Amino acid sequence: MDRSSKIVRVSIIGIAANIVLAAFKAAVGLISGSIAIVLDAVNNLSDAFSSVVTIVGTKLANRPADRKHPYGHGRVEYITSVIIAVIVLLAGVTSFREALDAILHPETASYSVPMLIIVAAAVIVKFLLGRFVKKKGEELHSESLVASGTDAFFDAVVSSTTLVGALVSLIFHWNIEGWLGLLISVLIVKAGAEILMDALSSIIGARVEEDLTSAIRTKINETEGVLGTYDLILHRYGPEKIIGSAHVEVPDELTAREIHILTRKITESIFKEFGIILTVGIYAANSDNPVISAIRRDVETVALKYPQILGTHGFYVEESEHRVSVDLLMDFGADAKEIYQKYCEEISAMHPDYHFDIILDSDFSD
Ligand SMILES: [Zn+2]
Repeated sequence: MDRSSKIVRVSIIGIAANIVLAAFKAAVGLISGSIAIVLDAVNNLSDAFSSVVTIVGTKLANRPADRKHPYGHGRVEYITSVIIAVIVLLAGVTSFREALDAILHPETASYSVPMLIIVAAAVIVKFLLGRFVKKKGEELHSESLVASGTDAFFDAVVSSTTLVGALVSLIFHWNIEGWLGLLISVLIVKAGAEILMDALSSIIGARVEEDLTSAIRTKINETEGVLGTYDLILHRYGPEKIIGSAHVEVPDELTAREIHILTRKITESIFKEFGIILTVGIYAANSDNPVISAIRRDVETVALKYPQILGTHGFYVEESEHRVSVDLLMDFGADAKEIYQKYCEEISAMHPDYHFDIILDSDFSD
C-alpha cells in the first residue's frame, strides 16, 4: 500500500471513530432526554471534518504532474495542514470563550451519571485515536495527520477537564472546570499556532534537515573519483518529492566521457537511495604544483580572517590564462557584499599577475 492510501486509511478510521462516538452520544442523549449530550454528538461529527480535509488534501496532492504543475501537486499537503491548524486554533478560541464564560457566570453544574460515562468513553476513544493518528502521521511524514491527531488529542484533554471538574465538584464542591478549561485552551492555541507555523514555513521553503543533506553528501563523496561535494541545493515539492543540484569536484584530467559516466552514477545512486532528482555540476581540481599550492594557501588563509566566510571551494587555477576561480561560502546575515569586496581586493593584491573569478555562495545546506 502506498503512502497516500495509508494516509487515507488512517483518516477513514478517524472519521469512523467520530461517527461511532457521535451515534453513541446521540443515543444516550435521546434516551436520557439531555439536549446537551445530543449537541455534543453533533460536535463529534464536526471533529470528523479534519479527517475529511486530510483525505481531500491527500487525493489532490497525489494527482500526477501535468503541464501546468510539472513538479506535481505535493505542496497541497502543506495547505491541508494550514486548514487543519486553523481548525485547531478555532477549537482553542472556542473553548477559551466557554471557559471564560464558565468562570464569569458560574452555574451549579448538575452532572448526571450517563453524562459522566459518555465523557469518560469519549476521552478514552479520542485519546487512543489521537495517539494513533499522530503516530501514523509521523511515520508517513504527513503534517496533516499529525495535525488532526493533535486535534483529537486535545479534544480528549478538553473532555477530561469536564470529568476532572465534575469529580472535584462532587467531592470538594469546588468549581474548577472553568480554570482548567482556560489553561487547556491556551495549550490548544499554542499547538495550533505551532502547526500553522510549521506548515507556513514549509510553504515558504524551509532549510532541508541536516541529516538528509549530510547523508546525500556522504553518498556522493563515496563515488570513486569525487574529491568533494559542494553547493547542495534541494527544493521540496511536498513531503515526498525533492529536486536539487550539487557541485562535485573531480581531477582536471578526467575526460568528458569519464565525467559523463561519473555524474550518471551519482544521479542514479542518489535517486535510488533518496528518490531525489539531482543535477550535478563539475568543479575541476588541479593536480598539485608548488605555484598553485601557494595560491591555494593564500586563498584559504585570507578567508580565515573573516568569521563570516564559512569556507572556500571550487578552487581552480587556469595557468595558461592566469585565472583563479574560487567560491566563498558566506554566512547569512553577514555583510556579504562588503566582505566580498575586501576579500577580492586583498587576494588580488597578493597575486597581482592573476585574475580572480570569485563567486559568492549562499549557505543553502553546508
Ligand atoms: Zn560553489
